[in-house]
Amino acid sequence: MNTHELWQSVLGELELKLSKASFTTWFRHTFISSFENGEVRVAVPNDFTKTWLEKKYHRDILLSLQNITSNTVRSIHYRVESRLNLPIEILPVGAEETEADQGYLEPDGPFRRDEINNEGVATAGDLTLNPKYSFTNFVVGKTSELAHAAAVAVAASPGLTYNPLFIYGGVGLGKTHLLQAIGNELLRRNGRVRILYATCERFTNEFIDAVRTGKAKEFKDHYRNVDLLLIDDIQFITSKERTQEEFFHTFNSLHQSNKQIVISSDRPPKAIPGLENRLLSRFESGMMADVGAPDLETRVAILEAKCREKKCELAKEILHHVATTIQSNIRELEGALIKIIAVHQFKNILPTLDSVSEVLLSFRPTAIKKTVSPRQIVQAVAAYYELAIEDLTGKSREKRLALPRQIAMFIMREEMKTSYPAIGAELGGRDHTTAMHAYNKILQNLKRDEKLQRDIELVKQRLLVV
Ligand code: ADP
Ligand code: MG
Repeated sequence: MNTHELWQSVLGELELKLSKASFTTWFRHTFISSFENGEVRVAVPNDFTKTWLEKKYHRDILLSLQNITSNTVRSIHYRVESRLNLPIEILPVGAEETEADQGYLEPDGPFRRDEINNEGVATAGDLTLNPKYSFTNFVVGKTSELAHAAAVAVAASPGLTYNPLFIYGGVGLGKTHLLQAIGNELLRRNGRVRILYATCERFTNEFIDAVRTGKAKEFKDHYRNVDLLLIDDIQFITSKERTQEEFFHTFNSLHQSNKQIVISSDRPPKAIPGLENRLLSRFESGMMADVGAPDLETRVAILEAKCREKKCELAKEILHHVATTIQSNIRELEGALIKIIAVHQFKNILPTLDSVSEVLLSFRPTAIKKTVSPRQIVQAVAAYYELAIEDLTGKSREKRLALPRQIAMFIMREEMKTSYPAIGAELGGRDHTTAMHAYNKILQNLKRDEKLQRDIELVKQRLLVV
């Protein structure tokens, strides 16, 4: 029995035990990627499924595997891997759901399973487009409008409109997504088109290898016989003289024959240190488009789109809250959403603002707006601890009031840089030395008191929505 048949048998058993919905949700796109020394590696399409299988179905899977293999299986590891990375020649064009998509085909592509990274993109081998990146699921916002439009234009008439197209911007803002979407779109229009997607790192490594093993010619043929060359993260080309030279020639060769080149970078060409002038001028000769951090509206739209994709519903105010907390990058936004869904499904609770805030704690410290007033801070602390404002501003020295009061003082100082006398005044006319003492004490305790860290973070999150 090969691993494919083995997994089919396991699925057959599980299918009988589970509801159709659960079975399809959790076991579609799974397969056994290896089975060695009693250890089975189960490939799953995403972290969410991974957590779910580990926590919910592990026992069933193990029992079933042991049953079928007469107890040869000792352990199971779940790993995010994808089988969507078939060489593009054999990916049926335009097919919504291909056999390969469903994970029932053994890939016979040139890459090995263990070379597929977490994002499901094969890092070795020939053609490594990931079908999950498309124009359809790219949410366009003001800061990505230009890059998106340019990418669409390039996919519509490669080699003719903007050549090269140079897309730059910070991490997790959709550069790889756009690059791959161009490839996927082109492929959708014409299944015979030759596309090569490579990170700069891969270009470099393959070049060095080729030189070392006397295969420079093969390398040249490989990179120059394409209709579309997508090079991701070109900023890593710096200080590699021979690679730069090789890239220069590759570039020219393609450009001269009107083959499309699309490049991404985390910064504009001028800002790449050590980039040769001739490359700089080539990069700048086409179209340069930047992607910036998305605004709030776009972040909410992205979350909505991802929710639809993942078939989960979250209230608008929750999405808004997530989008307010996580501002810098889309990868993180997506990560947060996945975590929120997982945590709630797992605990079997409905998401509320509070429960979601708690999940978000692990993401990043909250920076509150500069327009928040000291009074609002007192209010937020009082609400968090279910106290009256007068409790905090009053004279009582009761212990249950002391900590919330100190936290209010701390947040005023730390976040708003309020002066100690003003803080004292805000909390019922206390002395500035009391405020100073409170600030220092909380600062000290924060270093080791996780509960305190959490409490303060949650109070600050309340302040995001005032
Ligand atoms: P970069 O290459 O700029 O670091 P990626 O393209 O890898 O960023 O994007 C990170 C993640 O965010 C990916 O999962 C991608 O699909 C998603 N993403 C980025 N931009 C958008 C967008 N505008 N709409 C939808 N998803 C996006
Ligand atoms: Mg990238």
